[in-house]
Amino acid sequence: MQNFEVAVIGGGIVGACVFSELTRKGVNCVLLEGASDVSNGATKANSGIVHAGYDPQPNTLKAKFNIRGNQLYPAMCARLGVSILQCGTLVVSNEENRANLRVLYERGLQNGVQGMRIIERAELHKMEPNLADNIDVGLFAPTGAVISPYLTCIALSEEGVVNGGTVITNFKVDKIEKNGENYIISAGEQSVSANFIVNCAGVGANEVNALVGARQVPLSFVKGEYLLLDKSQKGFVNRPIFPLPTKMGKGILALPTIHGNIMLGPTAQPCEPNDTTVDDEGISAIKSKVILSVKQPNYRKVIKLFAGVRVISGDDFVIEKMPNSHFYFTAGICSPGLTAAPAIAEYLVEKMHEDGLEFREHKFVARKPYISTVDMDKKSLKELIKKNSAYGKIVCRCERITEGEIIDALNSPLHPTDVDAIKRRVRPTMGRCQGGFCLPKVIRIIAENNHIPPENVQLNGENSKILIK
Ligand SMILES: Cc1cc2nc3c(=O)[nH]c(=O)nc-3n(C[C@H](O)[C@H](O)[C@H](O)COP(=O)(O)OP(=O)(O)OC[C@H]3O[C@@H](n4cnc5c(N)ncnc54)[C@H](O)[C@@H]3O)c2cc1C
Repeated sequence: MQNFEVAVIGGGIVGACVFSELTRKGVNCVLLEGASDVSNGATKANSGIVHAGYDPQPNTLKAKFNIRGNQLYPAMCARLGVSILQCGTLVVSNEENRANLRVLYERGLQNGVQGMRIIERAELHKMEPNLADNIDVGLFAPTGAVISPYLTCIALSEEGVVNGGTVITNFKVDKIEKNGENYIISAGEQSVSANFIVNCAGVGANEVNALVGARQVPLSFVKGEYLLLDKSQKGFVNRPIFPLPTKMGKGILALPTIHGNIMLGPTAQPCEPNDTTVDDEGISAIKSKVILSVKQPNYRKVIKLFAGVRVISGDDFVIEKMPNSHFYFTAGICSPGLTAAPAIAEYLVEKMHEDGLEFREHKFVARKPYISTVDMDKKSLKELIKKNSAYGKIVCRCERITEGEIIDALNSPLHPTDVDAIKRRVRPTMGRCQGGFCLPKVIRIIAENNHIPPENVQLNGENSKILIK
């Protein structure tokens, strides 16, 4: 059995941040993920906004970790070699609700958000020409940003691996036993041992807590549905546009993704823990509400519907340690959890250190970012193709992804094997045709690279075969 100092359970953004933070401090740790790849829970389906921090109530964990996380993101993305779009965020309103916008501004000041500005109609409509006509005033927060949540999570996990950590996927923790100072953590027949555990299991937080007798946190689940428009709509909005938030959440937004698509959503529907379906009701809610902030989007350009599940516990995050143990848990990490994750990790790792976890001198190894041929100048691309002709073979025409990039992704530190895992890394099947043309080629490349028959290639985890013999 492999022994580790720390086992992090759950490879979403929170677990990946904890894992990366630990490995950079020389700690021998393992990230255990139940699915076939990291970033398979809420982390793969959210708005991808690094929030500025005016929304959470002052003196909450949400406010504290939102602000700190927002500060950590630019340097973290630079270190990981992933993009961050420092576009700011905009909350918009009509004249009647100006006072509510002011409340948000004051709250932002109280939380310590830097650089916010109330913007009047003329400047606002110049910044965002597609705002709805009745929008008179906006709150601009320049520290708001947009990232790719799944790629950031993958990059953090890869960074942990190149810095000495271990990631085990398809490891759904179902048993934890105490053996002296150590925990024996099992998933079916497989087991590892560790002195510390951090539970970052998202929707599965209470199930993991139950395995060690930690308290059950009251949780509720709220689905957020989205429509994704193709890249031809780039520029429809230049930054996330929020309506004024309500008790139900931040409302329906229009926002750019880091890759140049436009996203509309999310809804807020109470749901079962793993319900990521999108229905007519959700689509209608998006369509009727988004036009309160922006002009009518072009729905002929919708290429994908998807949903993510918020895990909510009252009004704040839950970040605790089970008394007299080395078991730490996070629960109810809903929005702004993506933003807060690096700060939550910093906090948890420091707590474990105070509890006796040793840090060691460690020579940091930078993760190697994926090559993106579409972003290369002609000369560099020519040289690359000369060295390896696979970078000259386009597989995904919509996103212009080459065979070389797909092979790189397959041989990357977590050795992903599923089509969706490759998609999240280098984007084949992400474009207008959603794999209509390139999916068979992607399957062939995975099969050849991994020496398996094509019919064994999975879409996303066990029992998701694409081809039937
Ligand atoms: C619709 C929506 C929009 C959002 N927008 C934003 C936003 O713009 N900005 C922002 O800051 N936040 C946003 N959030 C919140 C953010 O997405 C979450 O806070 C964050 O992704 C939570 O990460 P996590 O690591 O806690 O959970 P998850 O990403 O769900 O990860 C938990 C992981 O644990 C694994 N797991 C579960 N049980 C086990 C087990 N027994 N053994 C092993 N592994 C297990 C799961 O497979 C999963 O991979 C949004 C959320 C939603 C749903």
